[in-house]
Amino acid sequence: MTGKNSVGYKLSALGTRTFQTFNPVENSYNETIFVEAVSQEIEEAVLLASNAFEEFKGISHFKKAAFLSRIAELLTEKEDVILQRYIRESGLSYERGKIEMKRTIFQLTSFSELVKENNWRELSIDLADDSRIPLKPDLRKMLFGIGPVVVFGASNFPLAYSTIGGDSVSALAAGCPVIVKSHPLHAGTGELVANCVLQAAKETEMPNGIFSNLNAEGFEVGVALVNHPLVKAVGFTGSIKGGRALFDIANQRPEPIPVFAEMGSVNPVVLLPKSLEPKVDEWSTMYADSISASCGQFCTNPGLLFCVKSNASDEFVEQLTKKLLQKDAQTMLHPSIHSSFERLKTERLEDEAVRYFEKEGELDCNVGRQTIALVSGKHYQNNPNLEEEVFGPFSLVVECESVNEIIACLKKLNGQLTASVLGKVDEVNEHLDVVKVLQNKVGRIVFNGVPTGVEVCPSMHHGGPYPASTDARFTAVGIDSIKRFARPIAFQNCPDELLPGELKHSNPLNLVRREK
Ligand code: NAP
Repeated sequence: MTGKNSVGYKLSALGTRTFQTFNPVENSYNETIFVEAVSQEIEEAVLLASNAFEEFKGISHFKKAAFLSRIAELLTEKEDVILQRYIRESGLSYERGKIEMKRTIFQLTSFSELVKENNWRELSIDLADDSRIPLKPDLRKMLFGIGPVVVFGASNFPLAYSTIGGDSVSALAAGCPVIVKSHPLHAGTGELVANCVLQAAKETEMPNGIFSNLNAEGFEVGVALVNHPLVKAVGFTGSIKGGRALFDIANQRPEPIPVFAEMGSVNPVVLLPKSLEPKVDEWSTMYADSISASCGQFCTNPGLLFCVKSNASDEFVEQLTKKLLQKDAQTMLHPSIHSSFERLKTERLEDEAVRYFEKEGELDCNVGRQTIALVSGKHYQNNPNLEEEVFGPFSLVVECESVNEIIACLKKLNGQLTASVLGKVDEVNEHLDVVKVLQNKVGRIVFNGVPTGVEVCPSMHHGGPYPASTDARFTAVGIDSIKRFARPIAFQNCPDELLPGELKHSNPLNLVRREK
């Protein structure tokens, strides 16, 4: 571990500002000193990325695919060392790390396949028609990488949404060099992963600058990267505050650029009253597990549960609370995440209309005290703050008088990543308005399940209307996420010899094309 920045293939530490990562379980700093990047290193990384972008265009898709799969192989080889560091920088368990690593590797191999098949570019051809008046030109269109991309990862996914997580791999697959603003809470994990990416890049002869990893604890480095004129897009996973700040900066540039920010969410859940009665035990177990998974530190954590107050709902709340509170409390990612969990929770619980049940007893440092809070539907509608995400093992149950009152609450919700509806098909049919309202608010609707556990596959949509993301049209998970970092270019009456192979008349690459 060097604590240095990777500016393309070069290690560099020109700055004087340093920081250390923190082990939340031992409540002490990890030993490595990380050196923050300075403007000269930022400038160099972006220039290299801009040159690499041009060079990368000329590299065959087979070689690009080999680059991505080589990263996957190196991560597999280095898995143990990386996970040791991951645990010490996040407090997350080895088992959780294994799952996240598997997912990261799966994402790399899926994108490697996609790039090798070369069928993601939405090839479209409209042939000329000389007999038409006016003449119809020959038009051929396909997707190309947008240019250098800056990636910001989230604290709660040191692998799958970080250095070579979903944003970085989809940008590279689209043909875009990546500059990672390393997350300061897991800078060591970031460095180990970046080493694998850079080794794979060297071995597969990728241009210098295809990947850089810059350290920083404060905002300056990230802001300078987003403001750099040669940067063409941003991938962000993190809080609404952070994502919105970077989105605003990107839009105030002389040349605005897209920011694909995946942000926080409370993931509302609706428990339909008739279906709840026979399912109290099953659903309370399912939701106690979901709320407590990884100490509630998931963007898909179910933070709001809507039910109609009845004997069954009372029983559900009792069982949910009992099952959640009897679980061992877990360490949170960092003291600052723990203190903001406590602060946001206290703000909710200070409201006199909110009742709550918390895990009792003395807890170790940085451990999140799981909590279930309760409020009436009427009061919920009068206090918009109750919708804000409390990042951690917390969920608010909203007890309504009727399904109509639930619908009134749902109508007030902001955009969300997910919503869940629990109910038998007949009862869902009786209350189709619940689904209709949610459909306008979310990117994914879960039936009779939990929102946590985001499957990585082409049919997944991970995103949603603002503030869940800054662009609801795109997903951050699955191969379609490549579209965020690609843009179409149309060629009109272009001589065949000048066309890219994908669009040539004879279809020499034998690709699927829309042709008319
Ligand atoms: P965060 O505090 O927003 O930080 C994310 C990254 O953005 C960090 O590198 C941070 O740099 C940087 N950053 C934040 N604000 C910035 C600003 N104003 N200017 C420049 N850079 C800025 O988020 P986090 O605490 O790491 O992650 C937890 C949050 O992520 C939760 O809200 C969770 O729900 C969300 N999340 C969303 C998804 C999703 O897919 N939608 C997935 C996972 C997590 P510094 O740390 O150096 O400040």
